[in-house]
Amino acid sequence: MMALAAHRRHEEMPDLSPVLARRVTILGSTGSIGVSTLDVIGHARQLYGADALPVEALTAQSNVEALAAQARTFKPKIAVIGDEALYGELKSALAGTGIEAAAGRGAVIAAAARPSEVVMVAIMGAAALEPALAAVARGATVALANKECVVAAGAVFRRVLEASKAAVIPVDSEHNAIFQVFRAADVDEVERVTLTASGGPFRDWTLERMAAATPEQAVAHPNWSMGAKISVDSATLMNKGLELIEAHFLFALPAEKLAVVVHPQSIVHCLVSYADGSTLAHLSAPDMRTPIAHALAWPRRISSPSRKLDLPAVAQLTFQAPDHTRFRCLAVALDCLNRGGLAPTILNAANEIAVGAFLARQIGFLDIPRVVEATLDESHGANVDADTLDGVLAADRLARELAGKVCRRLMS
Ligand code: NAD
Ligand code: MG
Repeated sequence: MMALAAHRRHEEMPDLSPVLARRVTILGSTGSIGVSTLDVIGHARQLYGADALPVEALTAQSNVEALAAQARTFKPKIAVIGDEALYGELKSALAGTGIEAAAGRGAVIAAAARPSEVVMVAIMGAAALEPALAAVARGATVALANKECVVAAGAVFRRVLEASKAAVIPVDSEHNAIFQVFRAADVDEVERVTLTASGGPFRDWTLERMAAATPEQAVAHPNWSMGAKISVDSATLMNKGLELIEAHFLFALPAEKLAVVVHPQSIVHCLVSYADGSTLAHLSAPDMRTPIAHALAWPRRISSPSRKLDLPAVAQLTFQAPDHTRFRCLAVALDCLNRGGLAPTILNAANEIAVGAFLARQIGFLDIPRVVEATLDESHGANVDADTLDGVLAADRLARELAGKVCRRLMS
């Protein structure tokens, strides 16, 4: 009987072959999310066979060496470098491999349009917008790590999505968590969706201390290892503000149903509260390879190399309200969510410029919200349409120019 039961269990083991046959394109493969995605794929190949999750295309902006090394290991059909000037370097690095080389912004967008089943969008910033839209428009399953494209162009993104057969699986950990415990059909029964925030490295710092914070201190995140830009966003809490806007657009949730709670351990990633008083939470160790594996295999599940949850080792889960005074960026982002229109587009663009200037040591940490607020004020009446891609791109360009001017004013 025992043998029979075991045999039966084996027979009922889900057949993962359709999932493992999916071709994967990674946009931004040399970044933190890109590298973690390849780690998940490498793990799948070890466990399920060398043919698992074949790679269609890899793209990166400027790191030819890392891109070529990834291409040699994972054997995509094509490797694309965003910086056109690096084409020759990439081509010679791939000589003799049979892997096609391409370069330039157009080639990155074309990579997204190639016929893979899954596209991981792991480019940093609003630069991901057009490549992401190319993948959505052709009906791919889009594993969406990038949040800036949804913040910058939420209405356009939704419209392209609704007109296509694409499925967007959020990879941002909180949104991936919401996706797992929330059914869009029940949106009226949902009273609140709460995103957790670690609070970042300056959670307990005074404003005086924050004023002198260095880029090194800002990128030293306590729980997650991430790219520089999102690490600074986590330190200002702009990341959580962008995520509220991302959640609003991805899950069609009104601002009043969205909330943030600070949870320093980063174990609970979201809480979805229903009308009857039930709250469903998603828990995992803070390791992006978990949401990445989820998105690659959705609606099935594959093994991932991520750290597993060990609650006795974590010992305590604590929660506190966010401080909108010390973390001004969160308040500004919430205001933009409520204002709608192009406010989120301008917020995101100004923040990208301000964070770049902070990382280049041109402005101070507390100048980041100053640049964002001044840009929002000065771009009032931007005469473009939030509902068209051209309008969004124009507002994004204008906000970047204005934010650059504000940074220069602050530097002088
Ligand atoms: P990163 O800076 O480590 O990597 C960015 C990748 O994008 C690199 O491969 C880079 O070559 C490429 N890239 C940069 N600029 C580009 C451009 N203009 N055109 C084309 N490619 C470009 O960033 P990351 O931490 O991996 O984050 C990527 C995205 O995922 C961001 O939108 C971030 O907010 C989001 N995200 C990251 C994490 C994380 O843990 N790192 C978690 C949640 C969400
Ligand atoms: Mg997140």
